[in-house]
Amino acid sequence: MGRVLNRFDPWRGKLCTCPPKYSYSPYVGCSHACRYCYITAYIKDAFKPRPKKRVIDRLLRDVQFLPKLPVAVSTSSEPYMPMERRFELTRRSLEVLVRFGFPILIVTKSSMVVRDIDILRRGDIVVSITITTVSGEVARRLEPGAPSPEERLKAVKILLENRIKTTVRIDPLIPSINVEGVEKLVRRLSEIGVGHITSSTYKAKRDSFHRVVEAFPEKEDILHKFYWGRGRWIGRSRYLEDEMRRNILKRVREACSENGMSFATCREGNVIEWLGRCSCDSSHLLSWRLESI
Ligand code: SF4
Repeated sequence: MGRVLNRFDPWRGKLCTCPPKYSYSPYVGCSHACRYCYITAYIKDAFKPRPKKRVIDRLLRDVQFLPKLPVAVSTSSEPYMPMERRFELTRRSLEVLVRFGFPILIVTKSSMVVRDIDILRRGDIVVSITITTVSGEVARRLEPGAPSPEERLKAVKILLENRIKTTVRIDPLIPSINVEGVEKLVRRLSEIGVGHITSSTYKAKRDSFHRVVEAFPEKEDILHKFYWGRGRWIGRSRYLEDEMRRNILKRVREACSENGMSFATCREGNVIEWLGRCSCDSSHLLSWRLESI
């Protein structure tokens, strides 16, 4: 029985600024099938999700001997896919992690997370909901299997009303697709009480780039110029040129500043300074501190 709590290592991503933590997912693959998703480069049949074998038994074994670092649920899957309604593996995993005192960082695009508010109240937990646009149409083309932006915004509101620590990831931002209107999204988030945003630009892989232009064929030429013309490789991803990344992220940072929110980026290096004392993965909101273990 292999371990299911593994040290988070985003495929040796050069610019990762995450503090030490585990990565955990009760499922392999993801049904949201976001066009920009990078997991297809690493996981076979990535958009045909399935439960991991004996995952709760394996988790119960791992939590007995591992140090209590935060657990990211999930970094390369969606913990609240439709199949979670049937299997409840995420819910059962959260029960175990809370019982054994592990801090938890939930990353999701699903409004189903509100189902587990009873558990979220009991643990040292931060929920990050990814919302990339306020446009239902753009979201439908970009993230075909995920709940609509309005459903996600509603989930954020419900979590905050229930005093669950909740942040939003505006990630990824893709020029000519979802950068316009980002200020409007930040304003909406501020209005419902969000205090922290992490945002980053799209980093292309060949296969994900192909899927993005398949969904937005009218943007093919411009995206090709941005990524394969002016962009450059950093590690195994194709990045936009620095100036362009800086300008995009500056828009989000300024909107955050105007609305009194903290701001961080994810794998962007030093193209832009953050706002406030915060962490890219929102772990700054946990009560847990590294010195405590
Ligand atoms: S929710 Fe995350 S893991 Fe799932 S398809 Fe979208 S980007 Fe990939």
